[in-house]
Amino acid sequence: MNYQRLNILAIGFVLILVPAIALGFVTWKVLIILFLAYSVTLGWGVFDIGSQFFMPTFWRGKKGEVSFTFDDGPDPEVTPKVLDVLREANVKAAFFVIGRNAEKHPKLLKQIMDEGHVVGNHTYNHAYVFSKAAAEKQVTEGQDAIEKVIGKRTRYFRPPFGVMTPEITSAIRKEKCTVIGWDLRSQDGRIRTKEATINRVKAHLRKSTVLLFHDTNPTTPDALREIIHLCKQNGMKIVSLPEQSGIEPYHQ
Ligand SMILES: [Zn+2]
Repeated sequence: MNYQRLNILAIGFVLILVPAIALGFVTWKVLIILFLAYSVTLGWGVFDIGSQFFMPTFWRGKKGEVSFTFDDGPDPEVTPKVLDVLREANVKAAFFVIGRNAEKHPKLLKQIMDEGHVVGNHTYNHAYVFSKAAAEKQVTEGQDAIEKVIGKRTRYFRPPFGVMTPEITSAIRKEKCTVIGWDLRSQDGRIRTKEATINRVKAHLRKSTVLLFHDTNPTTPDALREIIHLCKQNGMKIVSLPEQSGIEPYHQ
């Protein structure tokens, strides 16, 4: 199921049901059921990044191979520590940065690139957007802010909160980006203790391939060190996102 098919189906049902209700064959309550079914399906598409409801998304790799991704930075306190851990472990990660933070901390963004990681767009300021114009502004200004520092436009885009809508989809298509999701949210932004993050990842690690962290949470670097160790202990292969997805990270 995708957005287009859902709408065609809904219109089809309405066209059949309205005359049937008018003629007294069907009760009008069926329209409520139809509306509820439509809303539930749409909600699944909007909130489940793996649903691919609006457009194709990379969110899962081969079993046994795992990649690390970080959202919301660069952050002057946490990002350098995350980079230290990744360097020590020789792990190449992907950073989905907020454009406004990239503008504030260009040196950090350059360091991320210099150390062999890749950079993706996580919008200009992580705001909720409800119009097509606002979505385009968020995506394009995010692209511009990154390009200003690293000299190229990224292909990788991760929507804030993992929320996809028709508006954000059209903005992503305009910039010819690919949506990068995840199949394990470490919840490091919400739980906020090192142990909680480790336990959450540990519980789901075996079937996980794309891990989501935040390089804005002070406990993330220490949790990361142990999680990398855990992956290696479990015989998992740590790969970079471009390697895992086969998708070029930058526009030529
Ligand atoms: Zn975010």
